[in-house]
Amino acid sequence: MMQHGMFAAPGAAGVTCPWCKHHWPAGMVAVECGNCGGALPAPPGPTRAAAPPPGPRRLPERYTRELLFSKNVGAIVGTIFASLGAVFAAIGLGLCFVLLPLGLSFFAFGALFGGIGWGLRSGSRKSALRQIDALTRGLVAEGQLVGVRPDHSEIINGRSPYRIEYVFYVNGQALGGSTKGWDIVNALRQPGEPLWVVFLPEDPGVSSIWPPIA
Ligand SMILES: [Zn+2]
Repeated sequence: MMQHGMFAAPGAAGVTCPWCKHHWPAGMVAVECGNCGGALPAPPGPTRAAAPPPGPRRLPERYTRELLFSKNVGAIVGTIFASLGAVFAAIGLGLCFVLLPLGLSFFAFGALFGGIGWGLRSGSRKSALRQIDALTRGLVAEGQLVGVRPDHSEIINGRSPYRIEYVFYVNGQALGGSTKGWDIVNALRQPGEPLWVVFLPEDPGVSSIWPPIA
């Protein structure tokens, strides 16, 4: 009973390792990635992945680097703005010796532009650090997938990620969170799927799915 494309039966879906991005086709999905040893997300369906190990959990460096910089759009754009701002401010300082008003304008523009860039960079890095913190030492809760939809607010190479919303319970109180993944297999996930959530005990609003999805 094999259907094709996006509507393949859930059991037929492979899964991509969130840590090293190795794709495991259906039938080869294990609890741990055979390539990097990281925990693999469960394929779409009613099975929960393996429970998170107790903290502190070690995250692959490549993964934290991606969260902090190489796949962090805010941090990248912010760094570019901050660098351009610094260049303008430096030119402005030089121009002050030639034509003071022009130099000051350049400097002010550079400082403002650079400041905005730096703020964006710090903010984006801070939220990535909180995410890493939750993954590393967060407490464990049982959660459930609430919904999956394409997130068109982000487009890279003509593709958008999937935004996955989930709910979990802390002391009987329902809390929500969301995460994104680029793996096409996420389109097959259904509301109600069980998953694990890790959250910061002092701020349960900061949470992540465990293991994260690719
Ligand atoms: Zn892996």
